[in-house]
Formats: sequence, C-alpha cells, structure tokens
Amino acid sequence: MSRVLVAGSSNTDMIIRVPRIPRPGETILGGTFAVAGGGKGANQAVAAARAGGRVTFVARVGDDIFGERALAGFESDGLDTRFVLRTPGTASGVALINVDERGENSISVASGANALLSPDDIARARGALAEADTVLLQLESPLETVAAAVRMAAEARVHVILNPAPARPLDDALLRGVTVLTPNEHEAAILTGMPVGNEGEARLAATRLRARGPEIVVVTLGAKGVFVWAPGLETLVPAFAVEPVDTTAAGDVFNGALAVALGEKRPLFDAIRFAQAAAAISVTRPGAQPSAPTRAEIDALLR
Ligand code: ADP
Repeated sequence: MSRVLVAGSSNTDMIIRVPRIPRPGETILGGTFAVAGGGKGANQAVAAARAGGRVTFVARVGDDIFGERALAGFESDGLDTRFVLRTPGTASGVALINVDERGENSISVASGANALLSPDDIARARGALAEADTVLLQLESPLETVAAAVRMAAEARVHVILNPAPARPLDDALLRGVTVLTPNEHEAAILTGMPVGNEGEARLAATRLRARGPEIVVVTLGAKGVFVWAPGLETLVPAFAVEPVDTTAAGDVFNGALAVALGEKRPLFDAIRFAQAAAAISVTRPGAQPSAPTRAEIDALLR
C-alpha cells in the first residue's frame, strides 16, 4: 500500500450556492447553504486515503466544534491522526465559499490554528515522514513549516510533491527539494512571472520551473487537463470529459490521488491519468472532501 504523509491545512468550508459570484458591495439571494470538510491539506489527505493510500496527516485544528468535526471526519476516512494537533484557545480554520451555477468559486479563508503549524510539529512526525513513499505539501501553512518538511523529506530521501497553492512566489532553495511541482495556471504564472493561459505558455513555464529544481512539473489546466514536463515525457494529457457541478477541490483531489499513484510506483503517465480520473469525478459533486472519490470509483472511470 502506498504510504503518503500530508502536512497542511484543515478548514471547515461554509458553502453557499449562488446564481453568480457577487461583485464587491453586492448581495445575492437564492442560494442553499452547506458545511463540509475543507482546507487544502485535509482535502488532499482525504482524497489520498479514498484513492487507496495509507495516509498520515500532520495539521493543527482549534479547540472548537469545527476542529472536533474535522477530526471525526479524518478518523472515519481512516487517516492516521496522531499528528493532528489541537491548539487550545485558537479557532479552527474556516473558509467562506461561493459556488456559481457553472461550478466556479470564490473563497476567503480565516486560517486560525493552521497558521500555527510549526517546523517542530513536522519534526514530531519525522518517523512517519521517513517511512512514507511520498510527502505531499501545499502553501496554506507557514512557509518555514513547508520548507522544514521539504528539508526533512530530502534528508530521509522521500519524494516530495508540492502543490504550490494558494499562489505565491517561492525561492529556489525550497524548489530544489521538490520532486514533483503541481501548479495550476495561475500558480505557474505567479511562480514564473509570465502569463500561463495556453499549452505553449504552460510548456515554457514548466521548462523554467524545472530549471529551478523539481524533477517533474505538472501544470494543471482545469478542464483542458494537465501539461507534464518530466525526463522522457513532455506532453499535454487531456482531462476526462465531465459535466462540472463544483470545481472547489479539483486540484486537491488531483494531488492526493497523484501521491498515491506515484507511491504505487506507477509510470508517470498512468499516475497522471489516475489523478485526472479522480479529479474529474470530484468536479461532478459538490463540496471539497465529500467530493473525493473512492478507489473503486476511480478504477471504474479508468476502465
Ligand atoms: P485547481 O483546482 O487547483 O485550480 P485545476 O482547475 O487545474 O486545479 O484542476 C485540476 C485537475 O482537475 C485538472 O488537471 C483536471 O484533471 C481536473 N479537472 C478540473 N476541472 C475539470 C473539468 N471541468 N472537467 C474535467 N476535469 C477537470
């Protein structure tokens, strides 16, 4: 079984479905409300577990009802929660999400306890990290914590997948420790300072990013699929054609499933197909964690 250690954020998502995303100063009526598990780290951890991985999650939640609810969710998905730490006197992370009729979203996040995830918290999980096949990270945690996880993974010779989301510039020292970098178009643009809106630009951005350290760069292009740039493989892999309902965690499900597939030592192309199948299923369903498919569902779409 593929062992994945995910370190990152956990949020509770408060989701309102709206006819369209409100403009500044505008109020829109007519939506339905839902609460679901979210946060990039937690989404990727849950997606990896459902995709068939044995997953350890390193995170911080607050000592409130949202943190309790999140932990209960992780346990029911079979995550190893020994390193999901509760922070007294602190709120758990919360995200306010609008989703429109085309499945597009806008999101604002209050990080709460996520902002306190520290390099020491990662060090506490060092044993589990060293035993993992893949370490999966995002940028919803303090950058020094992400950097510490990258360093510890490098010391233990464990592959790192970094999903550089939400977008921010990164220095080369951090990128050098990354095996697989998985930006979406917007994140690739922020990382490189160049526009990334089509295959040609994605190719150029991936070339530039690979020169900064990562062995493999996978630029996710939404419904267009992914552009992958790796030794011996440089190609656009189209997405599965589905009718999107809510694209909130497409990238998270993609990354969680990719970590599992690479840990299973699948060839890169097959691993990407597996991850795209998982992500395609997730966009046909509402919510972040609720939308992540099981291994059986992913295998069925691939057949
Ligand atoms: P993010 O959610 O980080 O912005 P993307 O939108 O690029 O990431 O989506 C990640 C992956 O999810 C895509 O590469 C694709 O495989 C899948 N995906 C996203 N949107 C769709 C869609 N509308 N139809 C099919 N697959 C999709």
